[in-house]
Amino acid sequence: MELEHLIDRLKMDYLGPQLDAVCEQAAKDDLGYREFLVNALSCEWQGRYQKGTQSRLKQARLPWLKTLEQFDLDFQPSIDAKVVRELTTLGFVGRAENILLLGPPGVGKTHLAIALAVKAAEAGHRILFLTLEQLMTKLKKSAQEQRLDLALQQLTYPKVLVLDEIGYLPMNREEASLFFRLIARRYERASIILTSNKSFLDWGEIFGDTVLATAILDRLLHHSTTINIKGESYRIKEKRKAGLLGKSPPPKSTAEEAD
Ligand code: ADP
Ligand code: MG
Repeated sequence: MELEHLIDRLKMDYLGPQLDAVCEQAAKDDLGYREFLVNALSCEWQGRYQKGTQSRLKQARLPWLKTLEQFDLDFQPSIDAKVVRELTTLGFVGRAENILLLGPPGVGKTHLAIALAVKAAEAGHRILFLTLEQLMTKLKKSAQEQRLDLALQQLTYPKVLVLDEIGYLPMNREEASLFFRLIARRYERASIILTSNKSFLDWGEIFGDTVLATAILDRLLHHSTTINIKGESYRIKEKRKAGLLGKSPPPKSTAEEAD
């Protein structure tokens, strides 16, 4: 069989167009058979890896792309850099552990959640991002159409599910119970990265029911890492830098924000 034909049959879509270049380079560098084979297969592997990551990121429905490298840890001293470093090793994904990012608006909760999810996608995991509002719309619609079970099942497939903005809007009983069912489904199966502006003490209020809130927290926290960000909003810092606000925050409001 012709080489081109073999490559085609083996579906090596990335090596195919690069084959001449890879061969020429091998001749130029006087490579041995093994080295040449490594280069050729790496070319195919790189192409597949990049395509896989791109398609996982597309399916993830991230509102924007942010990386850990873009996150300035020095700006938020309340975040333990060691904890973030440990999370970037993605051990939490394999162990189906959760990450809870708490703090006031603008401190980088969504940024960190996205950045960790992107890392997971790059490592080959399926990821999905939903705000609480998107999640509720999806689950309520499925319940109305008598296919809630299927929707909950599908929401267990991503290895990392980001649930953003828990706590901004209070939930009614139906919503809280849908939320509980999702958490129970993913419990010990797959990770959740959750962001909230409310401390755990206020969760009874968010879910309108302390018993349900306790049951939800119990499962979320059982295997988890909580990062409590206490600091100034990065958005406000940027506005201040641009001269749109006063030079430095009034000391009192900083203390309030840090509560
Ligand atoms: P939150 O979700 O806590 O309200 P975001 O993650 O949306 O905050 O952050 C607000 C904006 O500020 C985003 O554009 C984010 O990328 C940026 N940002 C926040 N914290 C940091 C940081 N420590 N370093 C770099 N950018 C940051
Ligand atoms: Mg946010």
